[in-house]
Amino acid sequence: MDPARIVVLAGGVGGAKFVRGLRALVRRTASPAAITVVANTGDDLWLAGLRVTPDLDSLMYALAGVNDDVRGWGRAGESERVSAELAAYGVGWPWFTLGDLDIGTHIARTALLREGLPLSAVVERLSARWPLGVRLLPATDAEVETHVVTAEGELHFEEWWVRTRAALPALGFVQRGVESATAAPGVREAIAAADVVLLAPSNPVVSIGTILGIPGIREALRDTAAPVVGLSPVIGGSVVRGMADACLTAIGVETDAAAIARHYGARSAGGLLDGWLVDETDAAAVDPLRAAGIAARAVPLWMTDDDATAAMADAALRLARR
Ligand code: GDP
Ligand code: CA
Repeated sequence: MDPARIVVLAGGVGGAKFVRGLRALVRRTASPAAITVVANTGDDLWLAGLRVTPDLDSLMYALAGVNDDVRGWGRAGESERVSAELAAYGVGWPWFTLGDLDIGTHIARTALLREGLPLSAVVERLSARWPLGVRLLPATDAEVETHVVTAEGELHFEEWWVRTRAALPALGFVQRGVESATAAPGVREAIAAADVVLLAPSNPVVSIGTILGIPGIREALRDTAAPVVGLSPVIGGSVVRGMADACLTAIGVETDAAAIARHYGARSAGGLLDGWLVDETDAAAVDPLRAAGIAARAVPLWMTDDDATAAMADAALRLARR
C-alpha cells in the first residue's frame, strides 16, 4: 500500500526542492497522499519592524512556483526599492536585502501576527493564496531563534550566515527561548498519525536539528509507528550548496553522509532513523550503517530537477515500506 500520510521535516531551499519532488511523485501515483511539511522556524527574525520567516517563505514560494530559481532565494521578478529606502534611513541590515514583493509577504504576516493570530494560523492564511498541494506547518508558534556562539559573542543565525558568510568560526548553536516553546498545533498530531516521516536533505544542524530541538517533536518521532527515513544533504564529503559544513564542524560531526546518519542515530538504539539514503558516491557507507541498525541504500541524491528529486522521494518511500 502506498503511504497516505507523509510528514516531511524541512529547512528552506533544500527542503523546498525536496518537497517539490515529493509532490510531483505523489501527483502521478494512483493513490495520492497527503503531505504535511514541518518547517524550521529557527532562522526567523524581526527586521525593520517586520517578522521575517526565511525557511517558511522558501517553501511557500517554491511550492507556489513564484521563487527565484536562478538566485536561489526570494521571489522571481523582484525589485529592491524599499530596501534601498530602508538602507538610506539606516534601518534594518544593509547586507540582508529584502525584495519588494517579499516585503509584501512580511507586512501581511506582521499585520496578522499583530491581530493576535499565532504563526501557524498566519502560515495557513498566507499559503491559502496559492495551491501549494501540501500542508505547511511551522515547527513552533513560539519565537525560538537560532543564535551562533562565536568568539565575538552570540549572533543571530542569519547575521552569522549572511553577513559573515559563516567565516567566523561557530563554537556552538543556541535556540533562544526554546525552554518554554511547544510544537505548533498539528505537528505532533501529524507525526503520530503519519504512515511515513521523511527528513529532507536539509541542514542537519540549523534546519532539522532546530526542529528536533523544539520540545515534544523528538519524542513524537520516537513514539510514532511510522518509519522515519532521512536523505543525506552531504554527497561525497561536501555539502552540495551552501555552508552547512561550518555548522556540522561546530557540533563535532564530520561532513560525511554516514556521520550525519550516526548523529541522528538508529531508532533501535534510541535515535531517530529507521532508514537513510546516501548518494551512490557514498555507497561504501551502506554496510556499516546497516550493521549499526539503520537500513541504508545508495541512490542518486542530486536534486537537479523535479523528476530527479521525485525519484529520490520514491526511493525514500520504498525504503520506508521495507
Ligand atoms: P536552507 O534553510 O535554505 O539552508 O535549506 P535547507 O536546510 O533545507 O537545505 C540546505 C542543504 O541542502 C544544504 O546544506 C545542502 O547540503 C543540501 N542540498 C542542497 N542541494 C542538494 C542536492 O541537490 N542534493 C542533496 N542531497 N542535498 C542538497
Ligand atoms: Ca534556513
